[in-house]
Formats: sequence, structure tokens, C-alpha cells
Amino acid sequence: MKTHYSITETPFQYRQLCWFCGEPKEFLFAFPHSKWLVLDCVHSPIKVSACKECKRFASQAKVDSIWDVHMHVKQALIKHYHKDLAIGLNWTKEELEESEFEGGNFEGFKKSAWFMYEVAKGRVSYQPWPLIVNGDTLEYLPEKEAFMFDGMRYPSIDDAILHYVQVFDLNLHFFKQVLARVGEAKFSSAIRYARIYIAATPQEQAIALRSLS
Ligand SMILES: [Zn+2]
Repeated sequence: MKTHYSITETPFQYRQLCWFCGEPKEFLFAFPHSKWLVLDCVHSPIKVSACKECKRFASQAKVDSIWDVHMHVKQALIKHYHKDLAIGLNWTKEELEESEFEGGNFEGFKKSAWFMYEVAKGRVSYQPWPLIVNGDTLEYLPEKEAFMFDGMRYPSIDDAILHYVQVFDLNLHFFKQVLARVGEAKFSSAIRYARIYIAATPQEQAIALRSLS
């Protein structure tokens, strides 16, 4: 049986944009995707606008709702652009401008780095507009709560943790334990603390954790 997809209504100001990331749209993404069998889709089959890259990521998501697809796309963007996103984790714009990345091989990096960072950050943080089908707004049912940190919106705190662990090469288990002790509100301090102990032995890390409690 052929699935009938409803095209979601797009507010005028967004009509040229990708629903996932806010870049110019190129395609319509249909969900549930014909490639995967989705048994528990909580909403009617729909189509949303997407850029080429988000459509590719979205098509790989084996999930039950468009909201989960959204989460999957954001996670894929974070993973794909982790080097660009790392720019803003290592420098401020001013620091990068005043850095000694001058001349020769570094010139191109210095010119494009901040721009690449801002584009990637903007796409990951982009919040989609409400989905309206035949006049009804689809209820937003996120499985996890988004996490805001340092101007970036992560699909969940777990995604922020994984991103920082990857960029700073932190020990995941140790960082999670630090965070559990100091609390989410001190995410920034937890990162700095965990960075001090990157090369520490398990014993040193255990002592470091004890000193927090
Ligand atoms: Zn996109």
C-alpha cells in the first residue's frame, strides 16, 4: 500500500529553509521513511523541507517519530562537524584573531575557522518551527530535554557530554562522575576539572573525585 504523506504547512518566513537546520532547503523529507518499517509512529505520515545533508542524515534514522529524526540529524551534524565546532571550544573570536595563525599554511584556517564554527553551531542549535498538518499542530514529544551550553543547543545533555569528551579527549567515565558530583549547572567547571586530569592514573582520578564530594 502506498503511504499518503501530508505536506506540513510552513510559515511564510521559513518557506525556503531546511526544517532541521535552517539552511536553504533543497528537498522534502518523507517520514516514515519507506526504507525502514516504523510500527509505532505517533503522528500521520508527513513531509518536511530539508537541505541535502540533513535529508541524508534523516534518511538513516531508524526511529519512530519526526522528533526522533530531528534528534538523530542534530547528533549526526555534531559528529560530522566536530572539528569545526571545536574551534569555539578552544578559542573566542578575539583570541583567534589575535592568534599566531598567520601566513603560510595557517592563513586559510585563520580566515575560515570562525565562520565554519558559527555555521555549524547555528545549524545544530537551530530550533524547528512547529509542524502543522491540516490546521493541527503536531504535539512536540521529545524523548530527552535539550541542553543549552555556551550558546549551543544540544539535543540532550548526553550529546554535550559526548561532544566535549571527543573534542578534549576526556575520560568519559571520569567526566560523568565529576558532573554527577558538581551538577549540570556547573558543566563548564566540570569540563575544566576533567581536563586537569586527562593524563591522570585511575588512582589519581579516584582521589580527584573524592575531593569533590
Ligand atoms: Zn539542513
